[in-house]
Amino acid sequence: MSDFSLSLNEDQITIQKWVHDFAETIVRPAAEEWDEREEFPWPIVQEAAQIGLYGFDFMAQAMLGDSTGLTMPVAMEELFWGDAGIGLSIFGSGLAAAGIAGNGTPEQVMEWVPQCYGTPDDVKLGAFCVSEPDAGSDVSGLRTTAIYDEAKDEWVLNGTKAWITNGGIANIHVVVASVDRELKGRGQASFIIPPGTPGISMGQKYKKHGIKASHTSEVVLEDCRVPGACLLGGKEKLDEKLARAREALTNPKKATSGKQPAMATFEATRPAVAAMAVGIARAAYEYSLDYAKERQAFGKPIIMNQSIAFMLANMATQIDAARLLVWRAAYLANNGGYTNAYGSMSKLYAGRTAVWVTERAIQILGGYGYTREYPVERWHRDSKIMDIFEGTEQIQELVISRAISGLRIE
Ligand SMILES: Cc1cc2nc3c(=O)[nH]c(=O)nc-3n(C[C@H](O)[C@H](O)[C@H](O)COP(=O)(O)OP(=O)(O)OC[C@H]3O[C@@H](n4cnc5c(N)ncnc54)[C@H](O)[C@@H]3O)c2cc1C
Repeated sequence: MSDFSLSLNEDQITIQKWVHDFAETIVRPAAEEWDEREEFPWPIVQEAAQIGLYGFDFMAQAMLGDSTGLTMPVAMEELFWGDAGIGLSIFGSGLAAAGIAGNGTPEQVMEWVPQCYGTPDDVKLGAFCVSEPDAGSDVSGLRTTAIYDEAKDEWVLNGTKAWITNGGIANIHVVVASVDRELKGRGQASFIIPPGTPGISMGQKYKKHGIKASHTSEVVLEDCRVPGACLLGGKEKLDEKLARAREALTNPKKATSGKQPAMATFEATRPAVAAMAVGIARAAYEYSLDYAKERQAFGKPIIMNQSIAFMLANMATQIDAARLLVWRAAYLANNGGYTNAYGSMSKLYAGRTAVWVTERAIQILGGYGYTREYPVERWHRDSKIMDIFEGTEQIQELVISRAISGLRIE
């Protein structure tokens, strides 16, 4: 247990400054180029690996070595203040790492998570593959199947995954598949697809509205065979879970709240994703505040008009409110008392704040704000994903409304 405090400790201040320096000197100057190129920014990710920001050790330190839980959101806010597309290219492997940590045994975590990062001289990537063309929010409807071949102790996976960050270019793909479709979410399990496995390939690469530096693709699985040991958590645990779920089908009174593997991961990563949204919003707010003090109209700086100054006042207030929700969720996740609603509140509010603040920033910059000469239009494009991935706005509302009402709101 650690006391909740609004002051960061010395380690966190050091990490905050370190990530900020990297974001300011390396990430932000490269942002426009990689947005235009719409390609994965390998040189920047390699630089992040060289300084230790991209890698297993940093993730382990930020996620496990910090009792307050605030280190990860603090780091994410700074990184995404630099640029969201590059930020996600650096953080994307963390989704796969969280998928492994949330569902794997300690041995599986030690074997596979480092392989999601490689080494500073040989950078590798991880991808977390849940969504499908016909199942995004409705994770219980996954169609990708995993069938056990007992004779060979192998799992055979078939299906198509959609919108996968680092999909097809990753070394390690963590795939959530259905072992028993009748059991919906409770019949699913997570699998590691090791590097070089035949039967996994990249489908289309999506052209996106924002975060264009981040690679997003389909992942196609065609009779993709993996060893039995690639089932995260192990066969015995899965068999027990399936037996419990089947019993619950026939006798609903005995239903237990067994976690769906995908949901367990998303719940853990939501505050970190919300912190990314805070970073984008802060970038736009700081930029438009400076601009409003400089830009003259009708013989005075535009900030001297209440309509502009109040807009900035509201931007600052919403950003602080979003950060407080993020810190509360991250703190409680590490110290007990966390409920899904806290993570969802932080993601819901931070996502909306990023979209609203970046749109207002364009307004403050006027015609310049609408052009690609200035970064605010890019920040606005980048912000919208924060309302969509890791659970849409409406899905966060669903989680919160169920938590506050105790009812199965649909
Ligand atoms: C850039 C990008 C990167 C991504 N990266 C990954 C990744 O790495 N791994 C991964 O697995 N997925 C990833 N995704 C997928 C993302 O998580 C899904 O797009 C998201 O969960 C929404 O699913 P959907 O697109 O199928 O929308 P749908 O579920 O079809 O939703 C469409 C609309 O209906 C609403 N809606 C749906 N159900 C309800 C309901 N019950 N009540 C009210 N409204 C509802 C939604 O809120 C939304 O507005 C990524 C997506 C993008 C765009």
